Parts: sequence; structure tokens; C-alpha cells
Amino acid sequence: MINFKTLEKFRDIPTPFYYYDLDILRSTLDEVKTESEKLGYKVHYAVKANHNHRLLKIISSYGFGADCVSGNEVAAAINAGFSPSDVVFAGVGKTDKDIVAAIKAGIFCFNCESIPELEVINHLASQQNKVAQIALRINPYIDAHTHKYITTGIEESKFGINTWEIEEVVKIIYGLKNIRLLGMHFHIGSQITSLPVFKSLCLKINELQQWFVTHNIDLEIINVGGGLGIDYENPDNNPRFQEYFSLLNEFIDVLPDQILHMEPGRSIIGQCGSLISRVLFIKNGSNTQFAIIDAGMTDLIRPALYQAHHKIENLSSQGKIIRYDVVGPICESSDTFAKFIELPETKRGDIISIRSAGAYGEAMASRYNLRDLAESVFSDDL
Ligand SMILES: *Cc1c(COP(=O)(O)O)cnc(C)c1O
Repeated sequence: MINFKTLEKFRDIPTPFYYYDLDILRSTLDEVKTESEKLGYKVHYAVKANHNHRLLKIISSYGFGADCVSGNEVAAAINAGFSPSDVVFAGVGKTDKDIVAAIKAGIFCFNCESIPELEVINHLASQQNKVAQIALRINPYIDAHTHKYITTGIEESKFGINTWEIEEVVKIIYGLKNIRLLGMHFHIGSQITSLPVFKSLCLKINELQQWFVTHNIDLEIINVGGGLGIDYENPDNNPRFQEYFSLLNEFIDVLPDQILHMEPGRSIIGQCGSLISRVLFIKNGSNTQFAIIDAGMTDLIRPALYQAHHKIENLSSQGKIIRYDVVGPICESSDTFAKFIELPETKRGDIISIRSAGAYGEAMASRYNLRDLAESVFSDDL
């Protein structure tokens, strides 16, 4: 929590910066570890949500694996202490260079999304005289009821192998000597707040599992991906891990000797991060007041990209409540963090906190307008 003492320290730090409350991160990780171990589930943190080295080191220290979507993420994960044998590698467009490096590093599993990809991995593994373990990312046709840009498991998605292709794909895999089928992988979207969506996924997985059973194919793992949403309106609320875990436990038929894997990203790292900014100017619009802050869409693109909502707080003011449009300095009209929100009366120099910014914030930052990248600041250091 940002208390008065923390705020005093913020005053000396150049803005904008990402502030990570490591106590929140550790208590989140404690909960996920306890809940997952109870059920024997294996957790792979989705590195793309935030690849900050210090955060990765903390997460890896809990014994979790890593879910990566590029060669650089694989390298960053291993560099931060994740064991290569706990790294999985996903993505529709893996490059040869990244595949070669991942095979060399000895990662646990490639989550594969197409027949040509399987053939390429087989070929590249054969050049190293290795057998690469793979799981099939299957598109289960389940609408995650989230923003269309982060919905990944419906019929028109570019992701995954279609269910009607499974038989053909399995035949092809058995003809390839340098890959070995480990299991099924799914990921239907992100920021999923409707838990019944995960129930639909479980039921679909059971149905697909039946196909493998009747064909005498043993699957060692079922990977349900990530996607558990967080409460952007109430950033002090924890993600609903217990409900999520007990739902999986209730509805997925995990076979004996099978291990359930999962890949949470946002739910692990989202609530511990805030983007801290200063108010540059208050400007009168025709029917609104703009609070122009020194953070922009280059630091946190989610509002501009997904119309995402982040709770915004003025940490410096206790004045009367007024409505503002909170905007950044970038030369794009989409560089708006919130419209017509209530804030205590705000003036130049006030410190603004944009909450729930730990996931897909720093990781998606760019240098558009040739801006500096925001630094990261950790609660343990203040
Ligand atoms: C992005 C992604 C995740 C993590 O999703 P969250 O919504 O952040 O939990 C997990 N698995 C795969 C394959 C992904 O692409």
C-alpha cells in the first residue's frame, strides 16, 4: 500500500516510473503456491505479462515454471533462475533461431499451433540429435467474453489447432521422429472475469481428452493456459485464485499420472504494480478539464489499445471532488487514461497513481515520440 512515507519518497523520484509493491507480489505468490500444491498443479508464470528481471527472480524463487513467447523471453527466464526444464514456449510464429535456441537450452515443452510448425521443430531437433517435447495448442472454440483483442480461442482466432484437425495432426506427429507428444494446451484469452467461461473450457477439455483415451494415446499433461482476470475497479482485491483452482479441480477430469499445468500472467503480477506520474498541467476543455500527466500510452498502452480501465488516484490531494479527463502527452488522441473521472481537486505537480499496472504495462512500453522508458522502483528499496 502506498502510505504517507512512501509518498514522501516518491517526491524525489523522476516520473513517470513503475512502482512495484513486492509485499503484494509475495503474498500473491504465496497464495498461488499453496493452492496449486494442494492440488498438484504445475504453475508456469506467463513472462510476457512482465519480464522485469527483479520480478522474474522473485517469481522463480517460488519454484514456478515460465511460459515464454519468444527466444528472448526464454533466455530472460533462464537468466532469472527458472530451470530450463520448467520452461514452456508458446506462440503462433516461432522463428527458427528461437526454436534452435530453445532446443539447445533443453526447455520442457513447445506448445505448438500448426502442422508446419511441428515439421520445422522436428527438423531443427533432428539437426541437434534431440527429441523435442511438444504439446498441441488446441482451439476449443470458447468465447472468453473479454475484449476482442485478447480473445484467442474462437473460430476466427489465428491461435491453435482446430479440433477437426487433431486426428490428422496426431498421425503426422507419429511420423516425426524428433518430436514427442506430451499433451494438450489451451489458452482462450485474457482478463477473463466470468468464471463459468473456465468451466466451459474444462468440459471441452474432457470431451477432447475422451478422443485421446479412445485412441489409446496417453497424455502426460493438460495445460489450461492463463487468463484469470483481475479487478481493475478495486485494485486492492486479490484475484479469485481459490474459486479458479476449485473450479478446475471440480470440472476437469485429470487422469491418473496426468499433471495439470497452468500459465497465469496478469493475475500474478497485475495488482502489485502502479504507474506513478506527475500532473504537468490542468487545461480547460470546452466541457471538461484535462489533467495532463507526464505518463503516456508509451508507458501504459492498455487504455489506448483495449479501451482498458485503470483506477486512477491523486496521491497528493484531498481537495473537493471534480471531474477530469486524465490524458498523457503523446501526439495521439487515444493517449487518454480515463474520461470524466472523479478526482480530488488536482493541480500541477500532484502525484498520480495508475493502479493495477503490473501486467502488460512495463512489458508493452515503447519509445514512441523518442520518450525515455519509465524506470522501475521496488517497495523493498524505499
Ligand atoms: C498471454 C498468455 C498467457 C497469460 O495470460 P494472462 O491473461 O496474463 O494470464 C498464458 N498462456 C499463453 C499461451 C499466453 O499467450
